[in-house]
Order: sequence, then structure tokens, then C-alpha cells
Amino acid sequence: MSEYNPFAIAQAQLDEAAERLGLDQATHEFLRWPMREYHFTLPLRMDSGTTKIFKGYRVQYNNARGPTKGGLRWHPDETIDTVRALAAWMTWKTSVVDIPLGGGKGGITCNPKELSEGEKERLARAYIRAVGRELGVHRDVPAPDVYTTPQIMAWMMDEYETMVGHSHPGMITGKPICIGGSQGRGDATARGGVYCVRETAKHLDMDIAKATYAIQGFGNAGQFAATLHSEILGGGTLVAASDSRGGVMNKNGLDQAALVRHKLETGSVANFPGSKPISNEDLLELEVDVLYPAALEGSITSKNADNIKAKIVCELANGPTTPEADKVLFEKGIYILPDFLANAGGVTVSYFEQVQNTYNYYWSLEDVHSQLDRKMTDAFNAVLEMSKKAKAHNRLVAYMVAVSRVAEACKMRGWV
Ligand code: NAD
Repeated sequence: MSEYNPFAIAQAQLDEAAERLGLDQATHEFLRWPMREYHFTLPLRMDSGTTKIFKGYRVQYNNARGPTKGGLRWHPDETIDTVRALAAWMTWKTSVVDIPLGGGKGGITCNPKELSEGEKERLARAYIRAVGRELGVHRDVPAPDVYTTPQIMAWMMDEYETMVGHSHPGMITGKPICIGGSQGRGDATARGGVYCVRETAKHLDMDIAKATYAIQGFGNAGQFAATLHSEILGGGTLVAASDSRGGVMNKNGLDQAALVRHKLETGSVANFPGSKPISNEDLLELEVDVLYPAALEGSITSKNADNIKAKIVCELANGPTTPEADKVLFEKGIYILPDFLANAGGVTVSYFEQVQNTYNYYWSLEDVHSQLDRKMTDAFNAVLEMSKKAKAHNRLVAYMVAVSRVAEACKMRGWV
């Protein structure tokens, strides 16, 4: 297995959990593969009048516990194996936070930075025309992921409603609030991760209000983590942050709100006044209490795992740590909050959005926060309880909780 094929990694992680759980061979094999996947070719009329062809995917990994759910990623490096891996991780994520949904994922191989707003809208609508018949609140519900936005969700919902001929806001989540989005969806991923850090600090008896932290990837998840970390935990010093164009550090602390403004104004954290530049590689190896990988897959590998010095790694990104690196971090005593637990706040509030759309009554921001806190704290505690019995690294333990629930649902349905 190459260290970085995300789907091979997702399967290897499942294999380890299946062995520890003593899963029977049929259930194990069933859970190693998506139940269904769609591949399609999308012609897009460009503003210049030429036509470009894009590849699109939707993977419905497993729906034993409920309709499949998962984001849409628009990225130049998108491949079917990335989508399969992300769909598998969604299956374990909805299970570990115990919401009645399965796992799915989709995407388009494209570079949205090179597309105009009009081109993005036509591409979003083309995607729904290609796969819309397989979507719906009782089938499969997409959401935003890397480089997709509430605006893109709005165009997709509109195209879908045009196809089916009636209102159907729950077919997609992460929508703007004015057309059925939920309060609290924007920062939900980071908020859920910070709730997990809070619970970890209690478990480790750490004075978290004095903690230092660093963030790799200053996008949606990373920017909200920057401010919510100190807001929820009662303090903390952000010492470094990075994005695809560079990184910045100041060991006395970066002003989080000013850094978010700088990123919005200039498109990058680079050249933030009062900071020194730092490479992404060096940021990961800083001596900090909490490290938030919030960029893409494969940041912590066998090459740098031995140099990681953080006490807690809160994986807001999907798949930032390879299995080889996992073992090294575990031996070093680093407490990992694995991706499908740490970043499950996003899908949890997406689920709340679907619930609100279905009964057409909307919650206050306070309600969303308290329900999210309860879900994340319960999930953290379920994993902690399992870790006392299983004595394994945290990702494996979280897998054992999630996989056993999905396996039980498959068995109760009589599939395996
Ligand atoms: P985003 O596109 O808003 O942000 C990604 C950020 O990572 C950007 O700032 C980009 O510049 C940066 N980046 C890209 N390559 C980098 C590199 N090599 N080094 C450093 N930074 C780099 O995306 P997002 O929504 O914040 O998602 C980030 C991660 O979190 C992804 O793995 C995504 O799957 C995961 N995630 C997001 C959500 C959500 O609700 N947004 C939910 C669950 C998981």
C-alpha cells in the first residue's frame, strides 16, 4: 500500500478495527467497499464560449443506519479514491456521533479558483442534473466541503427543486440561512473539535486556558478554530497558522480576529503584520499544546511523525494522519482526536438542518450550540469508555465504536 492512497488507508483502518472487534468475514468485506457509486462526465459551457469537460462523482458508501450524507469537494486533485475514502469516513463519523444517517461523499475534479461565478453556477446545476435522481432527504444528502460554499448549495437546491417540481430544502445542507440553512452551521466543525479538546483537557487534567495552539490550513474550519479555541476554552495563545500560500508565527501570540481579517482581505495569512514566516512543515513540528491540522489529507506521515511535539492533535481535516504516523504518535503519548470524531460537528449541525427543514420550524443559535455540545460530549465519552477496555490508540478505539454500530445495523437488516 502506498502511504498515501486515502482509500487504501481507510480500508487499512477498518481492517484493524474489524480484527479487534472480531467481525465476521462477510460483514468485514461488505464494509470495505462503497455500496454504490456514480461517475459522470459534465460538459460545461465556459464564459469564453468554449466547452470544457469535467469528471464528477457521488459515492453512497453505506446506508444501514439511514440515508447517506456527505459533502461535495471541488478540487483539482479529486479522484474516485479520495471520494471513496471520504465517504467511508462519513459512515464512521455519523455513527460515532450517533446520528441516524449513513455516509456518502461527492465531488468534481476542477479548480474553482479558475472558474467565474457564472461557470460555477452552471457546473453546480450540471452536477445536480447528472445525479439529482439519486439524491433526496430519504436517500442521500450532500453538503459543502473543500472549495464548495453555501451559494453552491443554494444553486444545487434550486436545480433539484426545478427537477422534482416542489420545495425540498432538506435535500442538501449548508445552505444560506434565508433559504433553510441552520443557525450555527458555519462554525460547527471547528466548534465540535474545540468541545472535544475541552473534554480531552479534563481527562488529561490540563490547564487548557493557558494552552498554546497552532493551525495548519486557515480555511473555514481553521479560521473558526482560531477564535473559538480561546472563546470556548477561556484563553489560549495562537502561535502559528498557515494556508496553501504560506505560514506565519509569533510565539507571543497572533491576534486571531485580526489574522482572520487579514486572510479575508489578502487571501492568505502570509505577511501578517507582527509575525515571522514559517513553513507548513515547521508549523506541524512546533512545541505547542494543541495542534489543529485543518488543511487536506496526508500532513502527518512516517516522515515527520517523530518530530511532532503537540500534546493533543485535534484533526479538523479529514485524513491528515497516515496509519504509520498514527503508531508513532501513539507511542509518543500524543492524544489524537481522530478526524471522524473531531470534525463531526459539521455533519451534526447539517443533520440538525435536515431535521429543521423536515418539520419546517427553526431553532435558535443557543439551541444549536447546546444540542451540538451534548452530541460531541457524548461521542467523546463513548470513545473514552471504549479506550479503557480496548487499550489501543484513539483512532482505532473510535473506529471500534463506529464500526460496531454500523455492523449491528447491517445485521439487523439481514444484509450479512
Ligand atoms: P477550506 O477550503 O475552507 O480551507 C482549506 C484551507 O487549507 C485553505 O485555507 C487552504 O489554503 C489550506 N491549504 C490547502 N493546502 C494546504 C497546505 N498544503 N498546507 C497548508 N494549508 C493548506 O476547507 P475547509 O472546509 O476548512 O476544510 C478543511 C478540512 O476540514 C478538509 O479536510 C475538510 O474535508 C475538513 N472538514 C471540513 C468541514 C467543514 O464543515 N468545513 C467538515 C468536516 C471536515
